Amino acid sequence: MEEEGIVFRTGTDVGKDIKAQKLLQDFDRVVLACGASNPRDIKAPGRDAEGIYFAVDFLTANTKSLLNSGFEDKKYVDTRGKALVIIGGGDTGNDCVGTAIRHGAKTVTQIEMMSKAPDQRAQDNPWPQWPKVCKTDYGQEEAIALYGHDPRIYETTVKEFVKDKKGSLKAVKTVKLSWEKDPESGRMVMGEVPGSEQTLEADIVLIAAGFLGSQDYVAEAFGVERNERTNVKTAPGEYQTNIKNVFVAGDMHRGQSLVVWAIREGREAARAVDESLMGYSNLVVQ
Ligand SMILES: Cc1cc2nc3c(=O)[nH]c(=O)nc-3n(C[C@H](O)[C@H](O)[C@H](O)COP(=O)(O)OP(=O)(O)OC[C@H]3O[C@@H](n4cnc5c(N)ncnc54)[C@H](O)[C@@H]3O)c2cc1C
Repeated sequence: MEEEGIVFRTGTDVGKDIKAQKLLQDFDRVVLACGASNPRDIKAPGRDAEGIYFAVDFLTANTKSLLNSGFEDKKYVDTRGKALVIIGGGDTGNDCVGTAIRHGAKTVTQIEMMSKAPDQRAQDNPWPQWPKVCKTDYGQEEAIALYGHDPRIYETTVKEFVKDKKGSLKAVKTVKLSWEKDPESGRMVMGEVPGSEQTLEADIVLIAAGFLGSQDYVAEAFGVERNERTNVKTAPGEYQTNIKNVFVAGDMHRGQSLVVWAIREGREAARAVDESLMGYSNLVVQ
């Protein structure tokens, strides 16, 4: 990328707070590509207990410590011998399951609020439709091999984080959920099943309950409009935001997605920027 003329601001610029206004003064166009790692929180009583982490913070610290020092710097959350509860049954939760197990966690439970998908395609989901079946990823496979059972429990949510006298997490109170008809709207909503409360031992909780777009401060600094899904808004298939000369691409534009989509969006945004500067573009996006 450097050979193609891209200048990476390093050295004295690293960690510096460069104001949005300054970037817009110094550059003809700005592309926002800050990802979508603003985590959805679980606001249950006891949330301030020590031992509760957001999944991406846990995973990032783990990878950095591993790559920088082979875990010698100790700048990660060690789950060895600990009881883990992971909130969220998606891909990020699965990465947490795998990482916690490889540290040597004592127990790992993954809580999912939705129902378990069927193991085989349902009759109303034939080929060539996308198969809506239960996916067992590498983290869960490792858990099954090690502990002898799937770490996931479904239709369950957290009611309370239980602390000890020192404020450290010691357990998680859960409750079962079921679909019920809302008497006011008539819509099906998840409701708690009375008497289904359970207490799970927990030294560490990892919250992997989804993402709410990019960090607010970036969008606010540039004044870019966001949509109802908390992503930065553009017209469909476009990259120009509501603010002149400011473009957006990747997860910040489409929400948490995949690397291949981020690459595609980067290319299309580059084309849109080129077009806005030149009046045309010869860049071909395949
Ligand atoms: C736990 C997890 C596992 C995943 N696993 C996969 C997988 O296996 N395969 C796959 O295809 N996708 C995976 N994804 C999704 C994939 O990581 C993203 O879709 C992709 O990285 C999006 O690229 P991006 O460039 O838009 O954003 P990011 O890769 O998130 O990059 C955004 C960058 O902007 C920086 N940044 C943010 N704010 C500022 C600021 N104010 N100033 C300067 N820099 C800033 C961030 O530090 C970050 O480096 C995973 C995501 C998560 C969370």
